Amino acid sequence: MSSKDIERCESKLEDAENTARIGDFGKAAKKYADAVELCMNLGWEKEAQEALLLSYLYPCNQDVKDKKDLLETGSLRKFLENASKLPPMKVTAYMPGGLFGEFDTAKLLTEVRGILYMSLGLMSTNAVDAVKLLEAAYDHFLEIGDAPLIFSRYVSCLKRRTTGNNAALECEGHIEFIKARQFMEVEPPKATENLIVAARAYRAARLYDVAKSVNNRIQELRATRKCWMCGREIQSADHFKIVKADVGSYFENLLRQRNEDMRVIDGVSRIALCNPCYSAIFYEADRIARGYHNIAMQAIAALEARIRQLEAAVRRY
Ligand SMILES: [Zn+2]
Repeated sequence: MSSKDIERCESKLEDAENTARIGDFGKAAKKYADAVELCMNLGWEKEAQEALLLSYLYPCNQDVKDKKDLLETGSLRKFLENASKLPPMKVTAYMPGGLFGEFDTAKLLTEVRGILYMSLGLMSTNAVDAVKLLEAAYDHFLEIGDAPLIFSRYVSCLKRRTTGNNAALECEGHIEFIKARQFMEVEPPKATENLIVAARAYRAARLYDVAKSVNNRIQELRATRKCWMCGREIQSADHFKIVKADVGSYFENLLRQRNEDMRVIDGVSRIALCNPCYSAIFYEADRIARGYHNIAMQAIAALEARIRQLEAAVRRY
């Protein structure tokens, strides 16, 4: 190998680096891919591996620059597939958000695995799978610890600047929320236990709005009312409805005298009905309304016939 080969390879690498420096990552990736063979021919194994890694990494950065979601384009997944075949190394790179420096590829891949597990977990319709995937994401993010994540801002599952620890806490919130969802309908008290943990995790992850809406959901599930019709105590706002009714002072006095739970009266003229009682009224009202509707339609048909008769009679004159 000649000094000319060395010169060619060095200038190729320099050109690739300059292209990355100005943020033209798509081109830089191609240039690094071209440089791999030149490095190999010179026996520069370390340089060849670095060039290869950057040729896998920079398409992700190009997507960030183009404001594309790295999960939608698949560039992050491709980076993981290819880069995990290379030995771990420290590589100098230009990264999204104007970051420049030496990056530990093992850490970078841990983050990417975390992001991909999290995204799959959130997309899974099966609760058991979703929890397993989010737990895997949790473990990977926790490994990164207090360090900021590189790609979190550019993926739909996180969409914000955050650290490994906070992303892990966010996953914990999701896990507990998914667990709670299974009990919300049938066992509201059990669901609230998981939701309390979820709210705490979201708050620790600095997702204050999410924590607040989970807390609202807890209040809804904790709400109890006595059904005015059947007198049963019902828990969770999902299982009763507040409807308009005429509750005069006579009934208010009656309840007070009997020392009955006054919570059946929600305001002056509103009462709580459990879902079965409410649905019974609803179906019956619907049936009656349908009856009136049929009567009205018959009357209209008769009226129309009468009008036609009169018109015919008028025309005869
Ligand atoms: Zn009832």
